[in-house]
Amino acid sequence: MVSAVLQTSFLGDMILTTPLIERLAREGEVHVVATPANAAVLAHHPAVASVIVYDKRQADAGFTGLRRVAARLRDTRATTAYMAQGSWRTAALARLAGVPSVGFDTSAGRWLYSRHVAYRKDWHHAQRLWALASAPREASLPAPGQLRPSLYPGASDDAHVMALLAAAGVGAGDPLIALAPGSVWATKRWPSYDALASALVSQLPDVRIVVIGAAGDAPLAAAISGAVNQRGGRAVIDATGKLSLLGSAALLSRCAVLATNDSAPLHLASAMNTPTVALFGPTVPAMGFGPLAERHVVLGRDALTCRPCSAHGGEACPLGHWKCMRDIEPSAVAAQVVRETRASQ
Ligand code: SF4
Repeated sequence: MVSAVLQTSFLGDMILTTPLIERLAREGEVHVVATPANAAVLAHHPAVASVIVYDKRQADAGFTGLRRVAARLRDTRATTAYMAQGSWRTAALARLAGVPSVGFDTSAGRWLYSRHVAYRKDWHHAQRLWALASAPREASLPAPGQLRPSLYPGASDDAHVMALLAAAGVGAGDPLIALAPGSVWATKRWPSYDALASALVSQLPDVRIVVIGAAGDAPLAAAISGAVNQRGGRAVIDATGKLSLLGSAALLSRCAVLATNDSAPLHLASAMNTPTVALFGPTVPAMGFGPLAERHVVLGRDALTCRPCSAHGGEACPLGHWKCMRDIEPSAVAAQVVRETRASQ
């Protein structure tokens, strides 16, 4: 059996698609259609036969690009396309390639699918995606913890991490705590990572803090670094913009714990089984995107009736007070990070 998996959504969605890909790979070749950014994260993955890059916003924009990518998809000889992303555009891609498709009954492109699977709001997204490969009875569905995603950093990713840590004076056994203060969505960015870092320095003076994220997160890393300097703590390692996605995954595999917002690093940590302290504000784990590392803690203001207020978290709090994030106490987060760090030592 040859399968195609179409996933052109956000990075976190791509990572959560890997259990489905692994499941399909047990029965034959799996070819994945992915955005350029998501394609990079699948490098070295043993369950992926090939990645077809679909640069839907630039190189492959428009109908000409769609037909070009459809021709590549047709060349794989896939017999089923699993629609992990539900737009009409990816549905049209499968239809143009002549590959029968299976996708969620709520997706925008469902009119073009050959078969529909119920989109279960009450399931983790890894379960929802896994269920595309069949329509299992709920009793036979693996628990979220059994559907931990998988990534495979390569030798060069490991080498970059080792060079970064060596340059910062980190020894082989030195404990590391990762902080991921960024998010594409402003209301998802917890504003107190600097206060958290200050608290960690006094409670865990031997531990080094490393900040991960995109290049645009450098100002957040600088604020954390400044707070630690003021406390006289050991220098913060700023890895923002310095590592590939798989490099960040490799770094996380080396960390005792990650403190993160509801954003891509959370899913990288799930894939590397790095203990995770996740901070949820305008979104909630019940939406299906909670951490899957064996050891994880979710912190959020459960009593706020306005949560969740959007699917992704917006650019500004619609109520103006942003209590879902402002009211998460740095001391409470620090207590969980310290606990997980000690448990990892
Ligand atoms: S409306 Fe509520 S959940 Fe949404 S951003 Fe504001 S405080 Fe957070």
